[in-house]
This record gives sequence, structure tokens and C-alpha cells, in this order.
Amino acid sequence: MDSREIEADLTEVLVTEQQIRDKLAELARRIEADYEGRDLLLVGVLKGAVMVMADLARELKPHVNMDWMAVSSYGAGTTSSGVVKILKDLDSDLSGRDVLIVEDIIDSGLTLSWLTANLASRGAASIEICALLRKPDAAKVEIDVKYLGFDIPNQFVVGYGLDFAERYRNLRDVAILAPHVYS
Ligand code: 5GP
Ligand code: MG
Ligand code: MG
Repeated sequence: MDSREIEADLTEVLVTEQQIRDKLAELARRIEADYEGRDLLLVGVLKGAVMVMADLARELKPHVNMDWMAVSSYGAGTTSSGVVKILKDLDSDLSGRDVLIVEDIIDSGLTLSWLTANLASRGAASIEICALLRKPDAAKVEIDVKYLGFDIPNQFVVGYGLDFAERYRNLRDVAILAPHVYS
């Protein structure tokens, strides 16, 4: 598929590559200050958070650990089911660890609400959330996100890790997916 075909699938770029880079640098400085002298474990939620994790981790100057979890939520559709299942669990023991969950997007909040409770039950010393995007108008549960990139409108977006049916993850910007692609 050539880049003109991809462009036809998108209605609007919401967040550019440069805006993401600047924001992650800003968040990284706050994270470095907040966790000074402590060992941080970044927990990325596969697969959407791969790009945020890679860029955020490289922005952080101190040593960090990275681990990954895969949970099911959407499948190939565009609305949240609220049903969460662990597809791949962490390799790390969380007891006594300072955990920072790294997510691509908070939509209904159901996934993160479930995930935070799940990780909290494993004895972590602290759990905080870093999410690149949030859709305030889609919230079904409130999520206490300490490090947030951007609030965006309640539309289905792709790019920078975010997919529709496993496509568009490698786009550098975050863009709104044209309704004709999924309707
Ligand atoms: P939530 O449980 O907060 O509704 O969202 C769960 C997951 O659904 C997110 O982590 C993300 O992977 C996916 N998701 C939510 N909104 C969008 C969106 O606008 N675009 C894409 N590609 N995925 C989304
Ligand atoms: Mg996600
Ligand atoms: Mg997806």
C-alpha cells in the first residue's frame, strides 16, 4: 500500500511526530525528578504502547527496567468491550517495585482500571500511569493518570503504535481514521 492510499484512510492528523517528541521529553524530565534515586520499572502494554515505551525509555537518562504485558480489549473493532484477559504476563516480580505503566491511550479507562488493580495486588511499592493520549469524553471509569501527553476528541485514532485491524501502527503521527475504513 503506498503512502497516498494511507493518506486517503485518514481524515486529520491530531498529534504530529514532533509534538509527541517534545511532550515525551517534558514527561521524561518530570519522571526523572519524581523517581530520583529509585529504580523504575516501566510496564508497557502490548502492542499499542511499543512506540511510546521505546521513545520515553530513551528520553529517560537514569537506568530503567522494561517489561511487557499483553491484554485483550478491543479485538479488531473500535469500541471497548470492558472484557480484559491477560494474553502475556510480566516476567518481573513486582514486589517492592516502583512501577510506571506505559500506555498508548485511555479511552473508556476500563483496561487501565483493571490493570492497575491487577498490578497493585502483586505488592508493588508504587504504581503510576503514563499515557500518551486520553479521550475525556469516552471515560467510563476515572483513571488517575500522572503523566499525560494529550487529551483528544472522542474519535478513533491510529498511528504511533495504535492500530486498526493491525494496520497503521507504523505511522509517525497520530491521525483520525476515516469512517469509510471501518464502516
Ligand atoms: P480502554 O479500555 O481505555 O477503552 O481502551 C483500551 C485499549 O483500546 C487502548 O489501550 C488501545 O489499545 C485501544 N484503543 C482505545 N481507543 C483507541 C483508538 O482511538 N484507536 C486505537 N487504535 N485503539 C484504541
Ligand atoms: Mg493500549
Ligand atoms: Mg488495537
